[in-house]
Order: sequence, then structure tokens, then C-alpha cells
Amino acid sequence: MSEDLYQEIILDHYKNPRGKSVFMTSLGESHQVNPTCGDEVTVHVGSGPDGTIQVSYECQGCSISQASASVMSELINGKTPEEAAPIQAAFIELMQSKGKLEPDEEVLEDGIAFAGVSKYPARIKCALISWMALADAQIRAQLTPAPNNSGTD
Ligand code: ZN
Repeated sequence: MSEDLYQEIILDHYKNPRGKSVFMTSLGESHQVNPTCGDEVTVHVGSGPDGTIQVSYECQGCSISQASASVMSELINGKTPEEAAPIQAAFIELMQSKGKLEPDEEVLEDGIAFAGVSKYPARIKCALISWMALADAQIRAQLTPAPNNSGTD
């Protein structure tokens, strides 16, 4: 896929952010700051009746950070922690790939647009900040995948 198309996806999420104010009870929140760029994001995580993750966020900063928060919300909202974990891992892996990884559209959907961003070390944190806030909020909300081999407590 071309850089132009990636740019278009990022701009679209920046201009039309998804899931910005989902109505829910917040079980955990995380506020993250990226001082080098000035991005700030707060992610709230709640739980649906079926144990799925609900995500709501506020984000201020550059177009990459805001677009990434929108993509994160779109991809994670309504997923179980077990379904969300491989998506989260794939996005972080993509951002650490320095542009060398071919992103899997079936897993990352619009998240593939950030493949180009991973070539620019100064912008990687912009793309990751909302995902870091999500992971932190999930821990606070205890909405992380259950370990495979342990019993209940
Ligand atoms: Zn930024």
C-alpha cells in the first residue's frame, strides 16, 4: 500500500475521530504525556456486560497521536482482553519495526497506516502514546487477558 494512502487514512481518523466519548463507567484510566511533541492523552477503560473492553479517550496533540487514538479505540472497543492482546502486540511490533515490517491488514485494519510512521523515530511515540495509555488503563481496570494456566483466585 502506498504512503499516500497511509496518509489519507491517518488524516481521515484525525478529522473524524472514532469512539472519542463512549458513554460508559470507567474502571481504570491512564493519562500519558509525550513531552517531545506535546501530545497528551487520557484513556478510560470500562467493561461491557459480556466482559469486552470499552474504550473512551481524550487526546490533544499532533495529527498522528490523535489519529492513532482513534484507530486504537476503533480496534479495541468491544473486544475481549484475549482478542485485543494480539492486536495491541501487533501494533507495538509494527511501530518498533523501523518501517521494515509488512503490516497485517486483517489484524490491524486502519492501523496499517502507521507503518510509514515507524520509519521516523521522533514520531513513533506520537503513534504509541494512546496504546501505552490503553495498556496502563487496562491494568488498572483489571481487564487484561487471563493467564492460560492458572486457576481462579
Ligand atoms: Zn505528536
